[in-house]
This record gives sequence, C-alpha cells and structure tokens, in this order.
Amino acid sequence: MARVFWFRRDLRLNDNPALNKAILGSVTDGDSKVAAAYALDLDYFHGLSGIRQHSLNASLNALGESLGRMLAIRHASVESGVSIAQALVTVAQSAEAKIVHASRAFDPAGIAEQNSVGSALAEVGVQLALTGSYYAVDPGTVGKPDGGPYKVYTPFFKRWFELGWSKPEALAEVGHKWFIAEPCQGRPKPSKDSPFEIKAGEAFALRTWNRFKERALYNYDEVRNRADLSGTSHLSHALAFGEIHPRTLLAELADSPGHNVFRKEIAWREFYADVLLHNPHTTTEYYEPRFAEMRYDRGVEAEERFEAWKQGKTGYPMVDAGMRQLLADGWVHNRVRMIVASFLVKDLHLEWQRGAAWFEECLTDFDPASNAHGWQWTAGCGTDASPYYRVFNPILQGYKFDPRGNYVRKYVPELAHILDDGIHEPWNRLDGLIHGYPAPIVDHSVERDESLARLAEIKIVKDQYPGA
Ligand SMILES: Cc1cc2nc3c(=O)[nH]c(=O)nc-3n(C[C@H](O)[C@H](O)[C@H](O)COP(=O)(O)OP(=O)(O)OC[C@H]3O[C@@H](n4cnc5c(N)ncnc54)[C@H](O)[C@@H]3O)c2cc1C
Repeated sequence: MARVFWFRRDLRLNDNPALNKAILGSVTDGDSKVAAAYALDLDYFHGLSGIRQHSLNASLNALGESLGRMLAIRHASVESGVSIAQALVTVAQSAEAKIVHASRAFDPAGIAEQNSVGSALAEVGVQLALTGSYYAVDPGTVGKPDGGPYKVYTPFFKRWFELGWSKPEALAEVGHKWFIAEPCQGRPKPSKDSPFEIKAGEAFALRTWNRFKERALYNYDEVRNRADLSGTSHLSHALAFGEIHPRTLLAELADSPGHNVFRKEIAWREFYADVLLHNPHTTTEYYEPRFAEMRYDRGVEAEERFEAWKQGKTGYPMVDAGMRQLLADGWVHNRVRMIVASFLVKDLHLEWQRGAAWFEECLTDFDPASNAHGWQWTAGCGTDASPYYRVFNPILQGYKFDPRGNYVRKYVPELAHILDDGIHEPWNRLDGLIHGYPAPIVDHSVERDESLARLAEIKIVKDQYPGA
C-alpha cells in the first residue's frame, strides 16, 4: 500500500515535515512507496500573467527534477469537469493509497481546498493527513494572554518570538521509492509569454539565500528600503511557494541589527497569515469596515486612470517604475509596493481590492495574506492603523529611496536621458517629457487633500499626516 504526497505551496523536499511523515509512514507500511502529486487549476493558471505562468512552471519543473521526474501533475478545470478534489482522488486510486499526506493551509482558499479534498478522499475510503504549515509558527498559535488573536504587529512579534519554532528537518532518507501515479498530465502549457527565462526551485532558493547572507544580510537594516539597490533577499517567491521554509532561514539568524530586522520581516508574513486566519473575509473585504463607506471614484475617467496605473503611465516616475517593474519582473521592491498602492488608493481614489487583484495576476510571490494585508495597511484600513492617515508622496519617496534615479532609469526608458535626481520631477525640466513620458495624470497635492477630506467624511480621526 503506497502513500501519496500532495504538494501544495510547499514545493521542496527538505524541511518538509508532512513529506517526512509520508515517507516514514510508507516505510512502516512495508513497501516504502511514495507517489508525489500536484493538482493544478487550469482556469486560474490561464488567468495569470505570462511571468506568473512560467514561474509556476519553473517551480514544478525543478520539483519534478528533484523527484527524478516522479511527479504526477493532474489538471482541474471547469471544461473538463474535474475539480482539484477529483484530481487527487484519481491519484490516490491509481496509487492504491489509503492515505494522502499534505501540509496544512491556513488561508481561506487553502482551507476550502483541503476540506473538499478531504471529503472527496473520505468518500472513497482514503484519509487526508495534514501536517505542519507554510510558517515557522502555525497561524492561530500566537494568542494574547486572554486567548484572543493579536491585532497589532509588535506584541504579536514578541509573543511569536517567545514561542519559537522547531529546527529544520532534513529529508528522511530511509530508502523510500518515489513512483508515479499514472496518468501524469504534465506541466500546463503557458498561454502567455514571459520576457525572460525564470529560475526557481529548492536548490535555487538555497543558493539565493546563501548569496543574500554573504552580500546583504549584515546591513539589511540599512539598505532594505532602497529601491535602487539589491538590499533584500528576493526570497518571496520561494517562501510563497514553499521552495524554502521560513524555519530554514530563521535557524541561521543571529543577534545583530541586520539579522534582527530580517527576522521581523519574516514575522510580518506570519502575522498577516494569523490575521487572515482570524478574519477570512479580509482577502476581499475591509479589515476596518468603515472604509467600505468611503467615496471612491467610478466611471470612464477612473477606469482610464486605473489603466494608466497598471501600465506605469501615471506621470509619477516612482509609481511608473514600480508598475513597470511588476510587468517586467513579476516582482516589486517592498518600498515601491507601498508607493504604488498608496497612489492607487489615495491619489486615484480607487479601492485597494482592484490593485490587489492586479498584483495577484502579476506577482510571482503572490501570497493571499501578505498581499491583502500589505494593501490594506497601505490603504489605511488594515491592522496597525497609524494615528495619522499616511499618504505617500511619490516625489519625496523617489528622492529618498532612489536618490540618484537609477531605479527609475532602469524601468522608465523615456526618462533615461535625465542623469540626476531631477528624474523624479521631469515636468520641471525643459527636456523632461521630450521622449514621450506623460505629464502627471493627477496633481498629488490636490489629491492628497481630497483623500483626507474623504477620510473626514467617514469620521476617522486624523490628527496629522506627513506633509508634501
Ligand atoms: C501592497 C503590498 C502587497 C504585497 N504583496 C505581497 C505578496 O503578494 N507576497 C509577498 O510575499 N509579499 C507581499 N508584500 C510584502 C513585501 O513587499 C514582499 O514580501 C517583499 O517585497 C519581497 O521581497 P524580498 O523577498 O526581497 O523581501 P525581504 O525584504 O528580503 O524580506 C524577507 C521575507 O520576509 C517577508 N516579508 C518582507 N516584508 C514583508 C511585508 N511587509 N509583509 C509580509 N511579508 C513580508 C517576505 O516573505 C520576504 O520574502 C506586499 C507588500 C505590499 C505593500
């Protein structure tokens, strides 16, 4: 009797307790056979950007290689009438397995998926065994002394750090044999192109981590906000798809300013997963419900502005560089994510969910909790509400976090002829817009005041906010 391991957002072999459980269970069973499977929703896949499609393919390819090509990929789609749950039933029956192992998801879509898979498997007499999670500390574990969940990051962090986490577990090498539960439908054919070849997978994630440790972790606290420097780990895709587990990273951190700030960033990911578990509606609804009452722009002009934002043609260089980085790389620097998100909500007066959906389509590191709550935080309707309603000034942010303009020059070729920091206000130069770069589609100082006026209408106290 074989066991099946269902890979989800944990596309790695090492430090994967659920996988070790499958392997050790198969040895106890006596035949040491483990069938590895991945089930893919083709409709969702084809709705993604080209980079995201190729990125998932690269991850599956790397995983398949590490399993000696013994990964059964099964497709689900409305057209075929096959759901993810039925795809896994087919795998379990083909493998003649009585147990399917997987990591436990804590986000609403992941929970719904594992519930439907568990029920469908139970109907054919197969058990779904869920172990571990995508986090160092499982969401739902870090509670306040009164048992309730944390709503603010800093006390969450303290408790999370006190609770701690287990050591990374190497792959159980106990003579098990991978085998393929036929038929394998293979990796999906991308319906869109990617502008470059994407590297992914567990080995690549480990190399990325080791390079980051050598070159930038020591002064991560100082340079992580600079959009023009490569001062962050670029591990977000690997973490989102489980090519590396946060435990593996945390185990190597010491007590120094760079290491401590990096640990805190990992903890933001864990905090947002915890917040989403307790507030499952917040992938699409306001965490602070009053913000649903705010006036948002609608109509033709609002749609044109949304399109300009998506294409990186707002006339604000930091915003446009960020949106074009998203299109070009499928990844955006964290500081710039905040700048573009603030611009969409507070300068264009559009709801955060529209930006979050565009990020979901394009970001190779898309994570339901970090994306929804990164947006909600920036929009001012999320956790950790500041005493003021912060409106990012895209010009000042540019001078501060791209002081020589290198980031903008890289992504906005119409401005590449401006060789100094004047690139952040090209409309002030005679030669600024000569290569077709647009004039600003809105006036930031006017829209900032408009945004604060709309905030006052929903009666949230604003004492102060950062000036222009
Ligand atoms: C509007 C908005 C949307 C976002 N959407 C996503 C998303 O879909 N997926 C995603 O992984 N991150 C998201 N983030 C968080 C953050 O921007 C990225 O995690 C980070 O830029 C990834 O780059 P890195 O791996 O080099 O990060 P590093 O600075 O090297 O940080 C290490 C890891 O810590 C975690 N992390 C860092 N900052 C944050 C943060 N603010 N919130 C949550 N986790 C964090 C990530 O897993 C990251 O890989 C979003 C932020 C904002 C403001």
